[in-house]
Amino acid sequence: MSEPMKVAEIFGKDVFNDTVMQERLPKKVYKDLKKTIEEGKELDLATADVIAHEMKEWAIEKGATHYTHWFQPLTGVTAEKHDSFISAPLSNGKVLMSFSGKELIKGEPDASSFPSGGLRATFEARGYTAWDCTSPAFVRHDAAGATLCIPTAFCSYTGEALDQKTPLLRSMEAISEQSLRLLRLFGNTTSKKVTPSVGPEQEYFLVDAEKFMERKDLIYTGRTLFGAMPPKGQELDDHYFGTIRQRIAGFMRDVNEELWKVGVTAKTQHNEVAPAQHELAPIYAEANVAVDHNHIVMQTLKRVACQHGMKCLLHEKPFAGVNGSGKHNNWSLTTDDGKNLLEPGRTPHENIQFLLVLTCILKAVDIHADLLRESAADPGNDHRLGANEAPPAIISVFLGEQLEDVLEQLISTGEATHSLKGGKLETGVRTLPDLAKDATDRNRTSPFAFTGNKFEFRMVGSRDSVAGPNVVLNTIVAEAFSEACDILEASDDFEKALHDLIKKYAIEHQRIVFNGNGYSDEWIEEAERRGLPNLKSMVEAIPALTEEKTVEMFEKFKVFTKTELESRAEIKYENYSKAINIEARTMIDMASKQFIPSVIKYTKSLADTVIAVKEAGADMSVQCELLSEVSALLSEVKKALDILKTVTEKASDMEEGEMQARYYHFHVVPAMEALRAPVDKLEMIVDKEAWPMPSYGDLIFEV
Ligand code: ADP
Ligand code: MG
Repeated sequence: MSEPMKVAEIFGKDVFNDTVMQERLPKKVYKDLKKTIEEGKELDLATADVIAHEMKEWAIEKGATHYTHWFQPLTGVTAEKHDSFISAPLSNGKVLMSFSGKELIKGEPDASSFPSGGLRATFEARGYTAWDCTSPAFVRHDAAGATLCIPTAFCSYTGEALDQKTPLLRSMEAISEQSLRLLRLFGNTTSKKVTPSVGPEQEYFLVDAEKFMERKDLIYTGRTLFGAMPPKGQELDDHYFGTIRQRIAGFMRDVNEELWKVGVTAKTQHNEVAPAQHELAPIYAEANVAVDHNHIVMQTLKRVACQHGMKCLLHEKPFAGVNGSGKHNNWSLTTDDGKNLLEPGRTPHENIQFLLVLTCILKAVDIHADLLRESAADPGNDHRLGANEAPPAIISVFLGEQLEDVLEQLISTGEATHSLKGGKLETGVRTLPDLAKDATDRNRTSPFAFTGNKFEFRMVGSRDSVAGPNVVLNTIVAEAFSEACDILEASDDFEKALHDLIKKYAIEHQRIVFNGNGYSDEWIEEAERRGLPNLKSMVEAIPALTEEKTVEMFEKFKVFTKTELESRAEIKYENYSKAINIEARTMIDMASKQFIPSVIKYTKSLADTVIAVKEAGADMSVQCELLSEVSALLSEVKKALDILKTVTEKASDMEEGEMQARYYHFHVVPAMEALRAPVDKLEMIVDKEAWPMPSYGDLIFEV
């Protein structure tokens, strides 16, 4: 047994957090920095110099030799370039450790190799990184030693966002401003800021590292591209919340320790539905910090898995036929004085405010359902959404019986006078009854579910940044709040206008509410009748980014310019094409160099057996039957392989962009499936010894 962990002592010990800043920074500097963090006031260089110096001293005490501006380009993963603290050697040949304010607040990496979607030609390589002081710096300890990591935004020379963080910060400003307008209407004069709170639940798989290394598909693409189902899958549900095995428990312990040290509030861990699948959830935090922390979580899971002789798979669908992994993005809005706008509340005036918030969110999600869907688009998620394990690709909102009943009362009579549980409440006209929490069951099939005092967006892919979905949520809700405030601020009779508006929104956007089974075929038909979009794949979802209503909204709230949106769509098409191209080429490689040769060897040994049996004068019909079955499948493999080669070649010769991505989706992906089918059948026939790689059973049951 290892030493007991003193959690309270280690938590946040490697974070340049408020306590450290208060201790180390001169009072005036601390105050100025707080102003920047809380009110977005610009930091002057002299103040930045003092902060940089103290940050460096603190980091060096923790053993740091380097610093890095840690940022989130549009590659989907984080990026960093390390600089050591050493300065030019002095005349005595020694060096000093230095770090200036300028180095802290602004870096200038060569940006030429990061995706920009045509925003910048490669010869215009300049990109700027700017310190995001709202997310605390931290020291990371790994094989490289200790590194001071400075969370950073990344923009082009001309100011366009080239990352995930910049639009997220912009969208947080938008939702704060519009939420404050709304709060003022209800008499709140004190709140200065409203922040989206986010709690991302992270699902992942663990497999043995040695077995992982025997599979080219896992190495190159993060998922298996071939593989027959083992005799046992997840049908017994015996893994979900099951006892955590010792090897995994040891891994989780180390993950927690690493996360706590850098201030990530790892809270819940459990086994998930599929064998070898697990989940980790932190306590929710401000959207910006939560996004950064989720990146830290993903990196830590991967790093610690390696230390334990395992590999962590963050792919949305690592194994066909077995549940994939997603991320549940829990989202709510909190004022700086700690009130949650999504809390149904106990007093009538708060209730009616809640009703307005709720109907605005319904409106936002209904109008921008396609955009919200797009925010979860990922090549891996194409295998997961709508596959009876994750929500369908159709966006709908789950409210639960009680809230839906309230909504129906509003629609039919214009007022909500009672709740399902509480009976009629004496709260007067135009109010909402007290809403007991958990009055309704949960619904796992809903993509966007109200869960007590937050919404849970369940579509996000396991390896994706949650920045994208939160940018969309913040902005679409900001737009709905803004439109409601425009009307209410201009009205003579606030009570009446409010009442009318809530009713109007409830009626107009009722179609987005669905409490039933999202996995059923009836829902797909019903959704179509309601006119809700059903964007089944990533390539079909991307156009939502550049639709007129999207561009108008993002420009109005200064989150994205049209150019930025167009570039993001380009990048997504490119990323999709590249991902499928790598998968297809990996399949071609595995089939040509591993499966076909192994099966030929196997047929040879079968043929030898046939001859031997014949020579012995015994009945050889079974062997002959097997031989012809294997030979038939082998020729199917060869044919499918040739087709896949042809379409992949054609696809990679096409010009990058929407047409190419669509070709990959509609032609290459089906050709991949056609190759997989006979190979998986062969796996069930061929001798295990003769099969060139570990099976699904080896991978998911023997971790
Ligand atoms: P469940 O699996 O029941 O959804 P979990 O405990 O696994 O619950 O995860 C819930 C997540 O939601 C946690 O990350 C939690 O911190 C987060 N969360 C709880 N309340 C809020 C809130 N008001 N706003 C945003 N996130 C929240
Ligand atoms: Mg959960």
